[in-house]
Amino acid sequence: MTSDEHLIPVLDGLDALAREYGNRFLLEPAPDHQLPQHGMRSADAMRLLGEELVLDGIPMRNLATFVTTWMEPEAQRIIAENLHRNYIDHAEYPQTAVIEQRCIRMLANLYHAPGETTGTRTQGSSEAIMLGALSLKWKWRARREAAGKDTARPNLVFGGDVHVVWEKFCRYFDVEPRIIPLQPDKYTIGPEDVEPYVDENTIGVGAVLGTTFTGHADDIVGINDLLVRLKEERGLDVPIHVDAASGGFVWPFLYPHTEWDFRLPQVRSINVSGHKFGLVYPGIGWLLFRSPEDLPDDLVFYENYLGKRDATFTLNFSTGSSMVLAQYYNFVRFGHDGYRYIMQTMQANARQLAQRIGAIGDFRIIGSEKDEQLPLVAFQLDGDHNFDEFDVASQLAAERGWMVPAYTLPPNADHIKIMRALVKLTLGHTMVETLADDIAAACKVLAEKGGLHPHDRQRVKTGTGY
Ligand SMILES: *Cc1c(COP(=O)(O)O)cnc(C)c1O
Repeated sequence: MTSDEHLIPVLDGLDALAREYGNRFLLEPAPDHQLPQHGMRSADAMRLLGEELVLDGIPMRNLATFVTTWMEPEAQRIIAENLHRNYIDHAEYPQTAVIEQRCIRMLANLYHAPGETTGTRTQGSSEAIMLGALSLKWKWRARREAAGKDTARPNLVFGGDVHVVWEKFCRYFDVEPRIIPLQPDKYTIGPEDVEPYVDENTIGVGAVLGTTFTGHADDIVGINDLLVRLKEERGLDVPIHVDAASGGFVWPFLYPHTEWDFRLPQVRSINVSGHKFGLVYPGIGWLLFRSPEDLPDDLVFYENYLGKRDATFTLNFSTGSSMVLAQYYNFVRFGHDGYRYIMQTMQANARQLAQRIGAIGDFRIIGSEKDEQLPLVAFQLDGDHNFDEFDVASQLAAERGWMVPAYTLPPNADHIKIMRALVKLTLGHTMVETLADDIAAACKVLAEKGGLHPHDRQRVKTGTGY
């Protein structure tokens, strides 16, 4: 060691200390508008991200989202060990493709497909709905062309209770949206609502099993019966696509005798989010067709890729294999009994929460135990209050970090404010009790203060969470 090396300039000294005890971003802003010229130690990069991400909400306290926030360690291991596989490379990863097909067959069976089916893995229900609705459009056009009729003005009928992706589809793929408005006291749709909107240019009707707003289902049996009648009386063959993003893993286990799926003849396709009540982390959805004929051949691309002929029907191309494998893990790990147990547990806790919130005296619960509903509690203030639902949501977040969203319903029920708490597997009995106590305490504080001052309203939760 030379004597010069003892004369470390002050800044270098700080740098050395930072390297030893922290990272250099303790004293510098995080890179944020251009790629930094030099990289950093891996430990520094990891800490930089880790420190910032504590500002995000804690997923297990996120009662806004329908998406899975917890999986078993064994499932996490499957996911971690397969992150380097590209799902779309069927030639290189043929066993993943086999496993995907098993999942599709299991779901088709769960949804009572009458015979041979087809379907695909998607990134989520949004992609599945785009592909399902595209199939409706292609099939409608083929029927019209075969009859020598005009194909210029397709329309799609659905209720205001749908997810935004339905309107997105209409705009992206040039289809007229025919949106049935909700009513101030009715938040789903039925045949009487649908009938006036259907005509010869209707490519299909979108019906929801488990809305994001209140967790109830459209009257799918009624809509099916209406469409069967229109077929007999007017020769209009209008198919149904069921958006079972959330409900597709709830109804078969909680309400197995309710018909909403391929037991109904007009139901031609169904989407479900594996990452919602399929209990897999984000990045997986499914699209199922009643029979292979419901998928127009024109939409399937046969390509020669890396030396093998492969059929694809997707909007995305590359994506990870992990979530497909995690879905299969859940299927074999839980089985039918396991999914039923989990759904019943969530339902029991949702009922407990509803009862406790009802007992506070300030709220009205939307729906009753007789309703078929997703495991959630939708509620609103009842009577005169000097604060509103948005205040309660903000107070709960500020005091305890609970993310329970407040939102307004779609037209024509858009003057109605609602709060909603998803009750997932991680919200056990004790947590339910605590949450109910925290809601009661929030109301008490707000009543004393007379609502939140606008400055205190950190409206962090603007969306309803999906
Ligand atoms: C969540 C949801 C969607 C969108 O699904 P993603 O899987 O998030 O793409 C569509 N429809 C309904 C009813 C939903 O709940």
